[in-house]
Amino acid sequence: MTKLRLCVTTTLASVFLLVALSHSVLKPHATAQEGPNWHNGLPRQHESQWLVHDLRRPLPEVVTPGVRAQDAPSDAIMLLDGTNLDHWVYRKGGAPAAWLVKDGFIELNHTGSIQTKEKFEDVQLHIEWANPAEPKGVSQVRGNSGIFFMGRYEVQIVDSFNNRTYADGSAASLYGQHPPLVNACRQSGEWQTYDIIFRAPRFDGDKLVEPARVTMFHNGVLVHFNQKFFGSTSYRALAKYSPHGPGPVQIQDHGDRQPMRFRNIWARRLKL
Ligand code: MG
Repeated sequence: MTKLRLCVTTTLASVFLLVALSHSVLKPHATAQEGPNWHNGLPRQHESQWLVHDLRRPLPEVVTPGVRAQDAPSDAIMLLDGTNLDHWVYRKGGAPAAWLVKDGFIELNHTGSIQTKEKFEDVQLHIEWANPAEPKGVSQVRGNSGIFFMGRYEVQIVDSFNNRTYADGSAASLYGQHPPLVNACRQSGEWQTYDIIFRAPRFDGDKLVEPARVTMFHNGVLVHFNQKFFGSTSYRALAKYSPHGPGPVQIQDHGDRQPMRFRNIWARRLKL
């Protein structure tokens, strides 16, 4: 009898606790404007567990934006603030990166491509770069670099200001696959910005389920909208996918011995 009573008491206590918890979790965000009958008659939102205007729906996480649009927001990882290369190692060998660190930027010194120690999947990346003010070379041999997501998918950096090259190799192209929507390059020597939203490919075992996708702004101008990579970046060949996990962000040393500069690189991990 005592055992039964204990069991009933425990069950009741659990139910009470569950009700209390669910009430606190689902308690509508109190506002002065919406009354107690707010939810009456509201339809369920498309593809959602929530009603239209549901006061119980979780509010977005608060992120403090940078002072200017190009400044890192509060939830970003500062990958390069221009004072050190602490987040970077060489792609080959993994030794600490030793590109030149100057007045708030780094400069390519032909010692090899570098990559982040951190690995990423879906990510928002901001990067600023500058070609030499007095460019040398033509076509691909003019300030060639690039950002490789997951160590495989290249967004091209090259001086495309008054410099003709193949369309799918110009600045802001998904190299070898898609030209940008427009050429938004600034004059040689000026600082330029890329703001890139990269969605990692999805694999089911060995099988590709969804390709990698990119939405991107070059100097604030839309240059890709939800554009897909056909596979890992390749040269004079069709791209294809092979399954992989999270990977670093790389900056390419194309080997042209031109002093490309980079500054203010930050990333926000996303789940898209
Ligand atoms: Mg390149």
